[in-house]
Amino acid sequence: MRITALETLCLSRMHEPERQWITAQYRTVKADCTIIQVRTDESLVGIGEASAYGGSSRIAEWVDWLAPTLVGKDALDPATAPHPNGRDRAHDTAVAGIDCALWDLRGKAEGKRVSELLGESPAASVPMYASSGCRYDWRDRPEQLIEEALGYVEEGFPAMKFRIGTHWEWDGVTVDRFLGLARELHQAVAGRMALALDGNCRLTMEEAMPIAKELDRLGFAWLEEPIPWRDIDGYAALAAAVGMPVTGGESFTTLEQFRPYIEKRAYDIVQPDAGICGLTELARIAEMAEHHGPGQSHLNL
Ligand SMILES: [Mg+2]
Repeated sequence: MRITALETLCLSRMHEPERQWITAQYRTVKADCTIIQVRTDESLVGIGEASAYGGSSRIAEWVDWLAPTLVGKDALDPATAPHPNGRDRAHDTAVAGIDCALWDLRGKAEGKRVSELLGESPAASVPMYASSGCRYDWRDRPEQLIEEALGYVEEGFPAMKFRIGTHWEWDGVTVDRFLGLARELHQAVAGRMALALDGNCRLTMEEAMPIAKELDRLGFAWLEEPIPWRDIDGYAALAAAVGMPVTGGESFTTLEQFRPYIEKRAYDIVQPDAGICGLTELARIAEMAEHHGPGQSHLNL
């Protein structure tokens, strides 16, 4: 089966005002989605999603750049997939989308789910969590976080992950104030839903350590990317200090970027994103994590 063409669909949709979400730096007013299609001479089309965090228009440019090196090649040969280089995020994200589309083609050709191609006994389902808690404003009704969480309990989510809210320095937020809200949230949810925190790499080590210890005491399911990603030793210290899993790596595109975190046990759970690094690289990362200790490559809620 030969590749005949590659196409990138750059989709975008405005969020309704109540669905916009905020981080320390910006308000997200729209959702982007970048779909890559790999066409073949046998009428099968492979479909993969490249994370829009790579930048949709730049991903499309890289797909066009890579297309002449792929057209005419065997779509089912694993050696056909291009590799991420760990240097250019848009390039690697384009590669990830192409890689996922090639896995999709392999699945279609064999009449199997991609999960069946990746492992001998894939799970029939995976637990979902509400990835949210990114609309509360420390200056104006931070308790919106709790109201939102109770909505997810109603909807039957087994877990929710929330963020640390608007800029702490501007809004006079301290570790104590944050932990006060976290305790209120924990009490309101009352064991009906697991909780996790994503720091988006925004906390200092001095802030992260007491937060990690208190969230561990409250039984949080995991603590994601609390401190700047370069601080591998800081991650290792946090992971050693608490029983709760410390996790990260969603923006890394290669095994080499994960390697020091795995070797130093800086992450209890690795979180590669197939839309950022591709399924082929993700499987390599998972294998290395598994090799270094159980519980690093999968999550049991
Ligand atoms: Mg995250």
